[in-house]
Amino acid sequence: MKELTIISGKGGTGKTTVTAALAALGDRKVMADCDVDAADLALVVRGEVIERGDFVGGSLAVVRADDCTACGRCEGLCRFRAVRKCGPSNAICNATYAVEPLSCEGCGVCVEFCPVSAVDFRPHTSGEWLISETVHGPLFHASLLPGEGNSGKLVALLREKARRLAAQMDLSLIIADGSPGIGCPVIASITGASLVLVVTEPTLSGIYDLERVGALVQHFDIEALVCVNKWDINKGLAEAVKEYARRSGLLWAGRIRYDEAATRAQLAGVSLIECDGGAAYDVRGVWEKVAACL
Ligand code: SF4
Ligand code: SF4
Repeated sequence: MKELTIISGKGGTGKTTVTAALAALGDRKVMADCDVDAADLALVVRGEVIERGDFVGGSLAVVRADDCTACGRCEGLCRFRAVRKCGPSNAICNATYAVEPLSCEGCGVCVEFCPVSAVDFRPHTSGEWLISETVHGPLFHASLLPGEGNSGKLVALLREKARRLAAQMDLSLIIADGSPGIGCPVIASITGASLVLVVTEPTLSGIYDLERVGALVQHFDIEALVCVNKWDINKGLAEAVKEYARRSGLLWAGRIRYDEAATRAQLAGVSLIECDGGAAYDVRGVWEKVAACL
């Protein structure tokens, strides 16, 4: 089984548009939207949710007010300033300590060091995972609750579920829309992938971000191709992207022109391939290069 992950150094390069187009072209595959902080692949591969489940990303501290002696130790130890003396009174003190859930990072220090063991560590639901049946095959995606983190763990969960379903259905390919940037979620998106496609744009920030993400894939020793989207908005910088890829040992997947068909496709909730135009032609060329490396 092969796993292709599409990433970009930054948001707004058209990564999801390219992912949806490749998903339309690829055969016998499962899709995973690993861009869990801004999951929108489901919007352009039209589908219906057929299964969902809670995502428990970690635990949060909760003070049992009846048992707190208001010694203040937890407040002093919490590096995230999540503990305040704002809990209700009890039999021995006028005010107890309480944890602000949105500030708690779930490190467990207050749980460990409370002298009277008055802090519980309770599993916390951060969002949900979903499977949708779409026009291009099964899609695993997710929805995080506002302010929730642990998206790296959620990405790992989605990839694991996608692998299991692909094995069950005897499908040979997973196409994953990775997270932008170079942080924990993108590392969780690419580790163990067979191949990475980096979608970039012809801007100075696009080149800078490509350098960072290129270093990341090389650090993890993953074969990677680069394509430049909307290349004709700055042909000089598009050439610089190609030159950077050549110097860095990244494979060249090609150029995709700026095409208003991409906007029309988004508005219609379909992939670029279904709105025939110049960019759709270019993406077919990119797919040929990618497929040859899988
Ligand atoms: S360390 Fe325990 S007893 Fe002391 S204030 Fe915190 S929760 Fe209350
Ligand atoms: S679990 Fe960690 S972050 Fe949360 S309140 Fe306790 S010390 Fe602070």
